[in-house]
Amino acid sequence: FLPMAIILSLLFMMVTNSWLKRKSSFRDDIRRGIDRDEFTVNYQPVYNQVTGCLSGAEALLRWQRPNGSWVRPDIFITAAEDEGMIIPLTRHLLQLVAKDCVNWQVPPGFNLGINVAAEHLQDKDFVADIRQFALDVAHLNATITLELTERSLIRDGAEVGRKLTTLRNEGMKVAIDDFGTGHCSLTYLQTFPLDYLKIDKGFVNAIESVDGETPVLDAIIMLADKLALKVVAEGVENAVQMEYLKKHSVMYIQGYYYAKPMDNTALMQWIAQQNA
Ligand code: C2E
Ligand code: CA
Ligand code: CA
Ligand code: CA
Repeated sequence: FLPMAIILSLLFMMVTNSWLKRKSSFRDDIRRGIDRDEFTVNYQPVYNQVTGCLSGAEALLRWQRPNGSWVRPDIFITAAEDEGMIIPLTRHLLQLVAKDCVNWQVPPGFNLGINVAAEHLQDKDFVADIRQFALDVAHLNATITLELTERSLIRDGAEVGRKLTTLRNEGMKVAIDDFGTGHCSLTYLQTFPLDYLKIDKGFVNAIESVDGETPVLDAIIMLADKLALKVVAEGVENAVQMEYLKKHSVMYIQGYYYAKPMDNTALMQWIAQQNA
């Protein structure tokens, strides 16, 4: 009887274990990925078309599994958001960036873009996390820009607004990411303290000629101007798009045409070239 009970309970454990494992596999994978240093950060330079210089860079997470394959960021970020792992993952990213940038020699006013998830913004430790990061990278004298999506401003508006005001008073900037794709009302534009609108690449894609018209893009540029927000155009892939944006006074350009996301070593070379 005893061996039978042991075998049965072992079986039971194996079954529930594999069920639990399947249910939380991504969660565990991400946690293990953090512990085993599978995440790295790429940086995409941003160009200021008025000065003709590098103006900053956006930090973008990368995940390479032990078998060598890469997981797409939109996949693992969404999974991390769905499974309660986005806050630990973002804290990990902040640590990776702080390590990467020890030897950077950035130009004055360099802007360091960090993507912030809605859940983190709502978290009680959000302000403390960002402050710690600001201390960790203080030697850079860079400006930290928090990139938020429209969606993340819907919940707990007043509280989120207070947090952003606090951080802005300490020198940080706030950007709305993927602007125009959030299916949101625009009232938040009047109530939140903001600095930048990042125009989603979908609108930039619509540019077909320098003299053509892209009504939605043009309206967004006008809106930003009225609100005294600076504009970053994302996903700029060719000279025509670049020219069009220049003609319409869009100051900041981010996209493959100027630079693709690159690893830390390549970024340091890129910055050195700019300074030369
Ligand atoms: P995003 O914040 O809108 O980042 C810009 C995305 O556009 C990046 O994709 C970048 O590689 C891509 N991109 C830049 N220039 C061009 C271009 O000229 N053409 C095209 N087709 N694409 C361009 P990536 O790195 O795959 O990241 C996808 C998304 O994953 C990001 O979109 C962001 O929402 C999320 N993400 C990435 N890293 C992080 C992170 O550390 N934290 C959070 N919360 N989200 C992240
Ligand atoms: Ca972004
Ligand atoms: Ca974006
Ligand atoms: Ca995006």
